[in-house]
Amino acid sequence: MKKYDVIVIGAGAAGMMCAATAAARGRQVLIIEHGKRPGRKILISGGGRCNFTNMYADPSCYLSQNPHFVKSALSRYTPWDFIALVNEYQIPYHEKTLGQLFCDDSAKAIVEMLVSECQKSGAAFEYQCEVLNINKIDSQFHLETSHGDFSANSVVIASGGLSMPKLGATPFGYQVAEQFGLEVLPTRAALVPLTWHAEDKERYQLLSGVSAYSTASANQTFFKENTLFTHRGLSGPAILQISSFWTPGDPLIINWSPDQDIKDYLEQSLAESPNQQVKTALGKLLPKRFLDELFSQNQFYEQKLNALGSKQYQAFANTIHEWQILPNGTEGYRTAEVTLGGVNTDGISSKTMESKTTDGLYFIGEVLDVTGWLGGYNFQWSWSSGWAAGQVC
Ligand SMILES: Cc1cc2nc3c(=O)[nH]c(=O)nc-3n(C[C@H](O)[C@H](O)[C@H](O)COP(=O)(O)OP(=O)(O)OC[C@H]3O[C@@H](n4cnc5c(N)ncnc54)[C@H](O)[C@@H]3O)c2cc1C
Repeated sequence: MKKYDVIVIGAGAAGMMCAATAAARGRQVLIIEHGKRPGRKILISGGGRCNFTNMYADPSCYLSQNPHFVKSALSRYTPWDFIALVNEYQIPYHEKTLGQLFCDDSAKAIVEMLVSECQKSGAAFEYQCEVLNINKIDSQFHLETSHGDFSANSVVIASGGLSMPKLGATPFGYQVAEQFGLEVLPTRAALVPLTWHAEDKERYQLLSGVSAYSTASANQTFFKENTLFTHRGLSGPAILQISSFWTPGDPLIINWSPDQDIKDYLEQSLAESPNQQVKTALGKLLPKRFLDELFSQNQFYEQKLNALGSKQYQAFANTIHEWQILPNGTEGYRTAEVTLGGVNTDGISSKTMESKTTDGLYFIGEVLDVTGWLGGYNFQWSWSSGWAAGQVC
């Protein structure tokens, strides 16, 4: 049986950060990955450019049953620490919007950087390796795997959540948590497109490809970003963000003109060109295809501004500012970027990520009940929690 100080299960974002940190402390580390290569989600993230952190990441950008849990790790390994590492490797990057940092070229540079950090401190990788059984006997963990038996003083579970099974996602981490007496909170797909009911699909699928700046709100939470119509439903950053707060049966309300009051705008347009059609005036603010569908039953839509009064202007404003839809559901784990819920953080030390009841057993990254907003927050959680465990495991 081969012996290590630390075995990390999962060569994703959190696992590699943890392994590199522990190995740099002189620990003998093995990373077990059931896929053929490391960091598969990193490679496809951010449209292939990896939104690797957010300069404004703070605890308020995370959902968890215990909102305080993330504070310690995020404050000890910050976005600036990760940016310093990226700078050290001379990986060019830029801020896209709202503090989101992306690679200029390819996400591959981030994976190569993490692999290099692991290798330079001597952490070993074991790919295409299935963990069949984990036992703890006295203070040692014994792992039975498809590549033979291993033992270690510490085991770090970094196997992620359930999103994108085709990239290797498995419920492995939840099963280990339960085996060692930890609670796993109900999981669901998040940062995920919402789907139409059949009758809405018929009506709106022709708008597929239309995108507009908007405020999407559900359950007293809102996000102001773009909303995109797709063949299946609604997507785009505003929808992905709100999907983490939306639950089945909730209406979704979209304000298609969040920065411009439509009634004021129509009154102003009337003063400037009274003979203009409502359709033409609104078409300067919003996509024409969308407006034609939205007001297909509205008898005033093709009328001139000076033929209408404040009551009709208000009706146009209400439709645009308070567009309501009842989504059928989400596209699920197949396309979700993350998983809400997971290992209950009540059973985990927020400083070290170690189980409070099993010495030497750690959980990091997405397997925990910690879910960030869209925009680099999820990777930052992986770096911060991986680093925190790597300091002590
Ligand atoms: C399409 C997409 C785009 C994204 N874009 C961004 C972005 O730009 N910015 C951002 O912050 N977040 C993004 N995310 C979210 C981000 O990828 C995750 O939050 C992050 O990867 C979680 O890191 P992790 O290490 O916990 O898990 P993962 O990165 O999922 O790594 C888990 C690893 O464990 C392995 N594994 C699973 N089960 C087993 C097992 N039984 N045995 C051995 N190995 C196992 C998996 O193969 C995988 O390599 C994106 C997600 C997706 C799906």
